[in-house]
Amino acid sequence: MIDSYGRNINYLRISITDLCNLRCRYCMPEKGITKIQRDQILRLEEIYELAKIFVSLGVNKVRITGGEPLIRKGILNLIENVGKLNGIKDFAMTTNGILLKKYAGNLRSAGLNRVNVSLDTLDEKKYHDITRGGCLKDVLEGIEEARKVGLAPIKLNTVLIGGFNDSEIESFVNLTKYEKIDVRFIELMPIGQTKDWSLNKFISNKTVLEKVKELKEVTKEDVSSPANYYKLPGGEGRVGLISPVSHKFCKNCNRVRLTADGKVKRCLLSNDEIDLRSALRNGEDLREIIVNLIKNKPKEHDLENGKYIKRNMTAIGG
Ligand code: SAM
Ligand code: SF4
Repeated sequence: MIDSYGRNINYLRISITDLCNLRCRYCMPEKGITKIQRDQILRLEEIYELAKIFVSLGVNKVRITGGEPLIRKGILNLIENVGKLNGIKDFAMTTNGILLKKYAGNLRSAGLNRVNVSLDTLDEKKYHDITRGGCLKDVLEGIEEARKVGLAPIKLNTVLIGGFNDSEIESFVNLTKYEKIDVRFIELMPIGQTKDWSLNKFISNKTVLEKVKELKEVTKEDVSSPANYYKLPGGEGRVGLISPVSHKFCKNCNRVRLTADGKVKRCLLSNDEIDLRSALRNGEDLREIIVNLIKNKPKEHDLENGKYIKRNMTAIGG
């Protein structure tokens, strides 16, 4: 599907739950979380139905996210059904990795190709602190299991947080020396109920290049990827920089997001949402609605003008 700016929208990110087994400080408030009402959450069959229509209209890349996708009951069934849709070339998941050790094998057998695992620190205590209770060992074992069963390539997502993990940039980069793993640094975005926590902790991704001078940029295999990739000399893996705040990549944006409550977000950093859940439940012509909403995808985000979004990241999916 081509939008009015000539972009080919072939990537759907589906958030299947707004709930999570962690409470990352930049993503969720400790208390007072605005949970989506359960009857508003798409049933798994509804998610499948919508995914099927998007794929039939030209989407060939699907990512399952959350909240934490692995806590949703019936996840393996959904993976199996979506994975079988004709036309999907890349089927991935973003997870915090806590339950990955348990699920990796089954996810692979159900048809998932690969996983991105979020990991912001390699220090046990700091991990416990930033996630408000998570156990680093669980994630590391999950990554190991994913590697074993062939959910590859594995990508780590590391949100750069000033005063928290800027001292670990070299350690993360060094993970790419001997392993075929991508470490991707993501700029912290001021979003939803954690906006104020994030505002004074932002550091630009250029810090990575300042700290690790040996990194050399490599040609992008996929121009629509938000990451610019670099490598250490002789390194096996890559270092990706995803810089939505310091460098807009809207020009090459190829994605839309389906939230757990059935809203399409055409831009991550905008409050604009289109309600597909009601359309689906009212039996409306979804193909026509989807083609039109894609045609009218906004040109770019407006974060630099202080237009913050209200939804928490956990209810969007990253
Ligand atoms: N629970 C899963 C996880 O953590 O990977 C999937 C959902 S999570 C919302 C998806 C991604 O969004 C994670 O990589 C997380 O680090 C990122 N994220 C959450 N809040 C963010 C923020 N304020 N700025 C930048 N990235 C954020
Ligand atoms: Fe949960 Fe992922 Fe948000 Fe952390 S980033 S609170 S793991 S949804």
